[in-house]
Amino acid sequence: MTQKNMPTSELQVQNLKIAFSSNGEEQVAVRGISYHLNQGETLALVGESGCGKTVSALSILRLIPQPPGKILDGKILFGKDDLLKLPAKELRERRGRDIAMIFQDPMTCLNPVLTVGEQIIETLLRHTAITRTAARKKTIELLRQVDIPSPEQKLNQYPHQLSGGMRQRTMIAMAVSCSPRVLIADEPTTALDVLVQAQILDLLAQLKEETLMSILLITHDLGVVAEIAQRVLVMYAGEIVESGPVQGLFRKPLHPYTTGLMNSVPTLEHGQEKIHRLSEISGTVPSLSQTPPGCPFHPRCPSAEARCQTEKPVLKEATPGHTVSCWLHQ
Ligand code: SF4
Repeated sequence: MTQKNMPTSELQVQNLKIAFSSNGEEQVAVRGISYHLNQGETLALVGESGCGKTVSALSILRLIPQPPGKILDGKILFGKDDLLKLPAKELRERRGRDIAMIFQDPMTCLNPVLTVGEQIIETLLRHTAITRTAARKKTIELLRQVDIPSPEQKLNQYPHQLSGGMRQRTMIAMAVSCSPRVLIADEPTTALDVLVQAQILDLLAQLKEETLMSILLITHDLGVVAEIAQRVLVMYAGEIVESGPVQGLFRKPLHPYTTGLMNSVPTLEHGQEKIHRLSEISGTVPSLSQTPPGCPFHPRCPSAEARCQTEKPVLKEATPGHTVSCWLHQ
């Protein structure tokens, strides 16, 4: 790829390290991860619960409570600005306007005592130069855009009066109301039934196409990744252990952890579910205080060698754009 054709990075995370203190001890949850998010792409951050994916995403908007959390090192570059160093007032301006976030549970960000319309109108008034009348009109358009029927009426309803799928759509409408350049979506479809999940994924893909927004998608669901992401980062024990374009990585996963994740997903072949037992990854993600030496995955790895117990592999490019940290590929 020539310099001219290189995609523009919207966000660059460099050597991010995050710790939490517990009982007077500092425990590292994110261990120096680096990645970039290109303009108009969907980048998926995958891994089991406790691998550090949500913590690292929350840190982009400095939403980690400090204390007990603490950013030990690193930069999060958005344009020329390091978000970790922006004054609090300026960061509040950026939240919602330039970078927005949607959560698994819409009630996390919807205010139960305000109508959904009022909440979106307030967001528009705070971040854009718009009159209340125009904000109301735009809110109706946004609700229509996310396929909420009768938006003029729904505008006046409270979050508890809407179904789970409607609340999720409302949260998406609020998140995209100011046309953010980056949308962070943390398990946005996990709590929804399969049909609504598919609709929400379609909606996100469509909004991305229309606005050239970039999406950082946090999920443990590889089916969702295959559906809408272009690149994927696999996290384990606070580190990125594999990354690459979705198609290449799904066709030929290199890290045994990625292979384990993929083998634990049901597949369909010729319209019929394959008749085989789903395999699971034995053991659990290590606790923050007990990350093993060497390769952190070695106690669970079916391919572990002697040196895996003591020597730590580094993230290296195995093929162009596809990186992995495993002694099998160093
Ligand atoms: Fe398994 Fe060793 Fe590779 Fe770690 S470095 S994933 S233990 S083979």
